[in-house]
Amino acid sequence: MHDAFTRTITDIHARYADVAEGALADYIPELTQVDPTHFGLAVMTVDGRGYAVGDVDVGFTIQSVSKAFAYAMAMDAWGPAAVEERVDVEPSGEAFNSISLDPTTGRPRNPMINAGAIAVTGMVGDTPERPRFPRILETFSRFAARELDWDHDVYRSESATGFRNRAIANMLRSFDIIDDPVEAIVEDYFRQCSIRVTCRDLATMAATLAHTGTNPVTGQRVVEAPSVERVLSVMSTCGMYDYSGTWMYEVGIPAKSGVGGGVVGVLPGQFGIAAYSPLLDAKFNSVRGVAAFRDLSRVLDLHLLRVPNVSAHAIRRSYLLADAPANRGRPDGDSRILEDLGRRVLIVELQGDLGAASLERLVRRVRELRAGIDTVVVDLRRAGASDSSTTGLMRGLAQDVIDSGQDLLIADPIGIIEATAFDGLAVTVTASLDEALLRCEEELLRRSGRPDPSAATVEVTDFELTRELGDHALQRLLPHLEHVRFPAGTLIIEQGTTADAFFLLAAGAARVFAADNAGGSEQRITDLTPGVVFGELGVLDEAKRSASIRALTDVECHVLTREALMKLRRTDHLVYTRIIEHLLLSSAERLRRTNREVALLRT
Ligand code: GLN
Repeated sequence: MHDAFTRTITDIHARYADVAEGALADYIPELTQVDPTHFGLAVMTVDGRGYAVGDVDVGFTIQSVSKAFAYAMAMDAWGPAAVEERVDVEPSGEAFNSISLDPTTGRPRNPMINAGAIAVTGMVGDTPERPRFPRILETFSRFAARELDWDHDVYRSESATGFRNRAIANMLRSFDIIDDPVEAIVEDYFRQCSIRVTCRDLATMAATLAHTGTNPVTGQRVVEAPSVERVLSVMSTCGMYDYSGTWMYEVGIPAKSGVGGGVVGVLPGQFGIAAYSPLLDAKFNSVRGVAAFRDLSRVLDLHLLRVPNVSAHAIRRSYLLADAPANRGRPDGDSRILEDLGRRVLIVELQGDLGAASLERLVRRVRELRAGIDTVVVDLRRAGASDSSTTGLMRGLAQDVIDSGQDLLIADPIGIIEATAFDGLAVTVTASLDEALLRCEEELLRRSGRPDPSAATVEVTDFELTRELGDHALQRLLPHLEHVRFPAGTLIIEQGTTADAFFLLAAGAARVFAADNAGGSEQRITDLTPGVVFGELGVLDEAKRSASIRALTDVECHVLTREALMKLRRTDHLVYTRIIEHLLLSSAERLRRTNREVALLRT
């Protein structure tokens, strides 16, 4: 039983397997030697997974499919301006071997017909150390992720009969579109056309273009991304010769065909597709190749102009800091302040790739929600890639936010936004959302006038727990508390050990973290500040610690061991009850906050 994807292409393959229409190209005599029944279909994803059905390992000559890859080489080596000077990018509407040159400049109409392709071959570097054809063969091999060879018989056959291409080359020479020696360029063009590939190879080569020039199998960059974009543009308009208009209309995939029977299609960011069937139609395109592509495009909805509405989902959610605090380990008093002031911090979380349409949503959402807001946080953790609109629009957003008197923080862990985007603007870019939110919280607490907790020492009588006890009860509790110091770096609680005490944090800072399940790395859960009670979970039922806590600075704690607590339970029921009551109320408050957060996470 095939996987669903293989099944889809297998069905399409089966649909045309018996079609015997069309004819072999016979103007190159050797091309009539191939088996006309061969038919293969192959697809490769941009992460290098291949799917194939039929005669996908049969070798055949690449012919005009080579034009797309040679053009990419010329673009890379010469840059667009110099290439455009010699070869235009207009569809000719004529057959592949037409002598389609601009009457005054002699420029071939485009690089996908023979005239343009011969000029392009002439642009591939030719030095004694690295002669032209070996250079082409080697680059094509890098596109295919394996060492390719060439078919000497087909080459000789074409060379012996290629008078028309020689005529074209001489025309090009007369307009100075190619340089001397003309004969050597034409021969290399014939060799280039006789490079032997399989249907699988073509899918890999196409997938390299779909993957912006990096071969998904080897991970190697073969050509630069801007060159690929230009190659695909020309494939879209000229790749199927004088069938290009209908092809784009019906199939909608940038493509290139050759008289050897190969067709490649490139769907940027998605697939490289190849078909092989040597029987050709009147326009010299593979009959079954065209039919298979047409069906594939329809069944898998691949038409390039069917663009999904990515911007509709660009905003994952927007919420207030009050609903998802970064630090749960604050004294309840601080948490209450943040619950109030946290309504003035707006967080907007984006997802997917950033482009003009998705950033427009962000810009709009911030404007809609900014009344009563002091600080805007843009969360880019789930954003994929940016494009050239990003810097300008993000900078504009920053200016707008700052002009209206608000602060802007951007959580950008993978560096989507260019470092220079906010030059001269007071924007804070952080490496995690956690860090951005922590900064917001510290700032809110500072503004509320509450003294800096990390510097302060909370007296044992000043914890909510001890205050609620009342004087008498407190005096009876104090002898049971141990004053313990933990030097910076000490593990105060270790994940997995049995809970045997709880802690009143009097001075210093500590971090709660869990070992990441995947690897040995630590995942910060929260930081603890003086005034907070921690480690109380599990003390009653002697459960295993669910996370570890480490002293970030020198830490001082008042510790109540389970043993002491159990003693109080026997000897001083009032104190015991008060402590339990406090823990219950405090846990309830935290649980309510956590519930709000969970609800938010599920939206
Ligand atoms: N080598 C062939 C030629 O120049 C390539 C043509 C093609 O594949 N359309 O005639």
